[in-house]
Amino acid sequence: MTDSLQEKYSRQMLFAGIGPEGQRRLLASRATIVGCGAIGAAAANLLVRAGVGAVTIIDRDFVEPSNLQRQTLFDESDARNALPKAVAAEHKLRSINSDVAVIGIVADLGPRTAWELLSGCDLILDGTDNFETRFLINDFAVKSDTLWIYAAAVASYGLTMTIRPGLTPCLACLLESGNSSQSLEETCDTIGVLGPIVSLIASWQVAEALKILSGRSEALHGRLLSCDVWTGHMQSVRVARNPECRACAKHDYAYLEGEAQPHITLCGRDSVQIHERSRALDLAALALRLRQVVQDVRQNDFLIRFRVAPYEMTVFADGRAILKGTKDPAVARSLYARYLGA
Ligand SMILES: [Zn+2]
Repeated sequence: MTDSLQEKYSRQMLFAGIGPEGQRRLLASRATIVGCGAIGAAAANLLVRAGVGAVTIIDRDFVEPSNLQRQTLFDESDARNALPKAVAAEHKLRSINSDVAVIGIVADLGPRTAWELLSGCDLILDGTDNFETRFLINDFAVKSDTLWIYAAAVASYGLTMTIRPGLTPCLACLLESGNSSQSLEETCDTIGVLGPIVSLIASWQVAEALKILSGRSEALHGRLLSCDVWTGHMQSVRVARNPECRACAKHDYAYLEGEAQPHITLCGRDSVQIHERSRALDLAALALRLRQVVQDVRQNDFLIRFRVAPYEMTVFADGRAILKGTKDPAVARSLYARYLGA
């Protein structure tokens, strides 16, 4: 390790749980974060500062003003320029620690893209905002024997659990066995979310990640941790494996095989995402064409955004689109066909 790295990570190496050997392992490790919203951004910040060798960030969305209250990697200029979160995060993280290989990928993690996007990392961190994607990650992790850390927060409440396939319960053991008390329907877009719970859950998540990536798996707590920062209520529960589990016992990977994934996803807020198939779009040519028929066409290197009152449409280079202002897939399909072709 060079002198400058010794200096940079000196306080972390002084901590007995990590030490110089743990730091060397961190520097050689690869983590992938799926979703760079509040938890993903906070986790990415901590992992990059800690010197994890390579950090990949996968996110399908772009920065909006309503994100800034809790998504700590982004600022007002990112929102003004509607930068994809993966791009804005990569830029910010490289300026924080240039020794880390940070790669931001603007993409939607789905059954077709899971193997390509997730293969080859030592650990996956959950920064997603929906259970469809979490079950997909869980299916991939169990099938490929990859460790991952589940994390979620809504309102003032959050929870996290580390999943080691074959050794611990998986997400399907936890949530599909009918003993889950937390409603899966509530989202940050319907009942809000506080910044402090996000930071706390991401901190717990990254502490576990540091144990795994520094070679100290024996220090993992092996529990489902949950907390409500408003009431001060905390819980630490040992979850049992389900011997009948769909994923880790019966090896039924319905989410990874695409059987459980609809082509049109509701994003939770008042919007619909369309990604029926991948098609490469020439954004410059499309913007030129759109400017003749619609108002307010804004474009950057990664996406085009335009308004067709009362809707707002954002189109990415891979042909994916997010339609704001409707929850009706039929309306979204028809707008997509009208402006982008079938
Ligand atoms: Zn299981």
